[in-house]
Amino acid sequence: MNTDFPYAQIVFNLPVKGPFDYIVPPELRNKIKRGVRVWAPFGGRTLVGYVVGLSGKPGVDISRLKQIKSLIDAEPIIDAALLKLSKWLSKYYFCSPGEAIEAAIPGGLKKGRTSVKPRLQEKSPEAQEASKSPLILNSEQKTALREISISIEKSQFRVFLLHGITGSGKTEVYLQAIKMVLEKDKSAILLVPEISLTPQTVERFRERFGKKVATLHSRLTAGQRFEEWKKVKEGRCPIVIGARSAVFAPVKKLGLLIIDEEHETTYKQEDVPRYNARDAGIARAREAGATVILGSATPSLESFYNTSKYKYKLLSLNERVDGRILPATKIVDMREELKIIKRFSVFSRMLEEAIRERLKRKEQIILFLNRRGFSTFIHCRRCGLVLKCKRCSIALTHHSGKRKLICHYCNYSAPYTEICPQCKNAYLGYSGTGTQKVESEAARLFPAARIERMDTDTTTTRDSHRRFLSAFKKGEIDILVGTQMIAKGLDFPRVTLVGVIMADTALNLPDFRAAERTFQLLTQVAGRAGRGDKKGEVIIQTFAPENYAVSAGSRHDYHAFYEKEITYRRELGYPPFLHLIHLTLRGKKEERVVQTIQKLALRLKTASAASKAEVLGPAASPIPRIRGKFRWSLVLKIPTPIQGTQLLENVLKDFKIPPDLNLRVDVDPLGMM
Ligand code: ADP
Ligand code: ZN
Repeated sequence: MNTDFPYAQIVFNLPVKGPFDYIVPPELRNKIKRGVRVWAPFGGRTLVGYVVGLSGKPGVDISRLKQIKSLIDAEPIIDAALLKLSKWLSKYYFCSPGEAIEAAIPGGLKKGRTSVKPRLQEKSPEAQEASKSPLILNSEQKTALREISISIEKSQFRVFLLHGITGSGKTEVYLQAIKMVLEKDKSAILLVPEISLTPQTVERFRERFGKKVATLHSRLTAGQRFEEWKKVKEGRCPIVIGARSAVFAPVKKLGLLIIDEEHETTYKQEDVPRYNARDAGIARAREAGATVILGSATPSLESFYNTSKYKYKLLSLNERVDGRILPATKIVDMREELKIIKRFSVFSRMLEEAIRERLKRKEQIILFLNRRGFSTFIHCRRCGLVLKCKRCSIALTHHSGKRKLICHYCNYSAPYTEICPQCKNAYLGYSGTGTQKVESEAARLFPAARIERMDTDTTTTRDSHRRFLSAFKKGEIDILVGTQMIAKGLDFPRVTLVGVIMADTALNLPDFRAAERTFQLLTQVAGRAGRGDKKGEVIIQTFAPENYAVSAGSRHDYHAFYEKEITYRRELGYPPFLHLIHLTLRGKKEERVVQTIQKLALRLKTASAASKAEVLGPAASPIPRIRGKFRWSLVLKIPTPIQGTQLLENVLKDFKIPPDLNLRVDVDPLGMM
């Protein structure tokens, strides 16, 4: 009997910190365990709580304590390792411990449910026997695997960055590293971005490891997800493949964590807790003494910088396994184009001609635009200049209501103008081109072609994404127009032309990672063309051909890009040199929002005066009003996130955010909208 522990520490999925002490009623004392859920009274309601501790003595006056009502789980739903990870998460990402734990629980088990009944017609993913054996590695793969195996053998926490273009054999290295981990009776987790988690990817792992593989991702129904989660928790599947939340997969004895496409933004969760699965994964692996492989063709600046500091070990795969060369890339200078044809056109003459040629030969075309209608950036269509804040090097955002150009990091502002400050022509453009415009222009120019558009507007159902791609694969579509959704992951052997309508759309985002995003997109997009036997071609349209992100992207030259970019990051004090915390205050009355955030900024500035932290802003957000709520934000620059969240916690202790306003805290933000 556990009668020594009549008190339990409980946290809730609420933005309140805790843990809170409760009395464990005598009849539950020999049943309650750390990691189970309970029903407990809180603020006049009965809520689901997580037991994070059991003790003989409460932290507070016993007469005020309430009793737990009942237990939900007989066995812990979350183990000690994951409890520890959730604690890290709540500290690093400034959320409550309960909110952090909630992220680790499968959706179907939320709100106190204990199981999810699969619907009748539902089948679990087909289990099959392993049928394929490992390939003979080439010498670069061998070198990489040898390094990784040493760390696996020693059960040592170590992070490898596997840098190699698509088709260089990274996945084969993952497969063989996983095999080694299984032989040591440990588990492996492979994280992939949601978009590249295709049946083909999973198939390769099932062919190698059969029933040992479980998958966790959003295309499964709640019932299927729960079944997969249970298989992992009960130790039946030592390999988990999944999207972001699979970083919390309840594997026993984690030996290896692989994060493919580690630079991907989909690893960052936009809702509380706003964690990055890569960074959470590294924290988990550190505790477990596990090996980490980060894989990418275009590593994040943060990860590559860590290899230069010898925090991570760099492993490179420089050749494509099949010896195929990357497609030829041409850059079209849209400034020249505009000078000659005297009007702005979506398609340059070169791109139009190339499309006609492909249509004639019955080959396929991808037209790529990195965003939907977001079009508040300003650039000169004559000289290519992008108006930027001198201090932050962030593209200025046009606020039409105020007729002003604003830096939404530091609030620098300039009056609205159409005259370019560099070439003095009235050529400043305030609008971008959306995917819809590209689609309609293509339909006008190529009336006989079968054209489809794929973006978040046209892929709203669970299945639409897959249907588009399978129609494209079958040759039922000639031209596929789309956003980043189509920039990665899949092989289309009949695509021989990729057109990038406007490389500058990413370049002009009001974000310090704009150049990095542009480079990544161009590199990835180029990888889509010419994957079959036919030679591929990539045409990039841009107003800034001399920009290093555009030129290095078109040459697939990561190192050239990295050297330039890291210098800017150092000079301007951006990651990886400093961390950012993005605070956004939202509310229905603009003056209230502005006054409150100004006060908060002042408090933060005073509190951080003695430290190395810097407070930028407040400034109106680039999208200043969403659903009737005004949005203003602040940016904190600090050496470590923990310093920033502590600073914030101290300031918020005696600075209460009024209830009609809402403060959003984003640590290590990936887009600051
Ligand atoms: P990446 O993950 O870097 O895109 P993959 O591991 O998928 O690369 O490899 C690309 C292709 O080459 C796949 O079809 C894979 O089966 C094949 N491949 C990988 N390594 C080898 C090897 N050592 N020998 C023969 N084929 C290989
Ligand atoms: Zn600025």
